[in-house]
Amino acid sequence: MLKRVVRRVGYAGPVRRTITSSSGLGRVTGRFVGGLDEVSAVAVAQRLRAQGMLTTLHVRQGNPVDEAGADAHVELYRRLVAQHVEAGLREGSEISLKMAQFGLLAPGGLDGAVERMRATVADAYAAGIGVTVDMEGIEEVDVTLDAVCRLRADQPDVGIAIQAYLLRSEADCHALASTGARVRLVKGAYGAGPDVAHTTRATVDSAYERCLEILFAGGAYPMVASHDLRMVEAARAMAREAGKGRDAYEIQMLMGVRTQDQVRLAAAGERLRVYVPYGPDWYGWFVNRIVEKPSNVRLLAHALVSP
Ligand code: FAD
Repeated sequence: MLKRVVRRVGYAGPVRRTITSSSGLGRVTGRFVGGLDEVSAVAVAQRLRAQGMLTTLHVRQGNPVDEAGADAHVELYRRLVAQHVEAGLREGSEISLKMAQFGLLAPGGLDGAVERMRATVADAYAAGIGVTVDMEGIEEVDVTLDAVCRLRADQPDVGIAIQAYLLRSEADCHALASTGARVRLVKGAYGAGPDVAHTTRATVDSAYERCLEILFAGGAYPMVASHDLRMVEAARAMAREAGKGRDAYEIQMLMGVRTQDQVRLAAAGERLRVYVPYGPDWYGWFVNRIVEKPSNVRLLAHALVSP
C-alpha cells in the first residue's frame, strides 16, 4: 500500500518535473544513477574500481518499438565498450543488457533482438568485457532463456539473471548449472501471481536459498545479486562448505544501495560487483529504488527540495 502511494507520488507530474528539471543529476538522485552518458558512468566505474569493486553498466534509454531505436542501442553499448577501453577498464568489467532494448518489441522480434545482442556481445568480448542479460517480466522468461542459449553458442561466458520468486527457477538453475553458466540470482522485481511465483517474503527467501544451493552444487558461476545480508551470508557459507574460492562466485548489489556493506565485503576479499544504470531514462529507476525501502522516502523529499 505504502509502496503504491510512493510510486504514485514519484510519478506525479509536478514531482517528476521538479526532480528532472535540472540539467544533470542531483546529489540524491545521483546516488543511484551513474549519470546521463557513458563518460560519467565509466567515471563512476573507475571510482568503484579504485575502492576494490567491479561494475556492470546498464544503459537506460527506454524500450524501442522500431528497428531504428533497437539499432541505436547497439550503438549506445558500442560507445560504452569503447569508453571502458579508453578508461583502461577492461578485465573484470561487465555490461548488462535487457532484451527489450534490442528490439524484442520491434517488427524483427526475437530473431532481430538476438542478432543485435550478438553484435554487442562480440564488441564487448573483443574488448575483454563480460555480458549478462537481465531478466524482465514473466512473458519474457522463455524468450530470454532462448536468446541467451543462442548467444552462448558463440560466447559461453554470457550470463543470465534468474528470478528466485518464479516457481520454475529451480529447474532453470539446474539446467543452467549443468552447462556451467554464469547465473545472476535475484529475488525478482517484476511481480507475478501465485500460479507462477512465490508471493511471500518467506517463500521467496527459501526459494532463493534453494536456487543458490543448486548453483553452488552444480557447475554454475553464481552471481549472488541481493542486498539481503542473510542471502549474502548463506552464499558465502555455501561457497566455504563446497570448498570454492572467492573467484568461483561473486556478490552483486545496485549502485547506492547498502554502500557500506559493498565496501565492507570488498575489503573482506569478496568479488563485489555494483550494477550502475545510466542514461536519459533514469527517472523510473530512481523511483523504484525509493519505493523499495520506506525510509528512502526522505530521499525523495530531499530530491524535491534540492534536485
Ligand atoms: P530485499 O529483501 O528486497 O531487500 C533486503 C534489504 O536490502 C532490505 O530490507 C533493505 O534493508 C535493503 N534494500 C533493498 N533495496 C533497497 C533500497 N532501494 N534502498 C535501501 N535499502 C534497500 N530483478 C529482476 O527482476 N531482473 C534482473 O535482471 C535484476 N537484476 C538485478 C541486478 C542486481 C545487481 C541486483 C542487486 C538486483 C537486481 N534485480 C533484478 C532486483 C531484484 O530482483 C530485487 O528486486 C532487489 O534486489 C531487491 O531484493 P533483495 O534481494 O535486495 O532483497
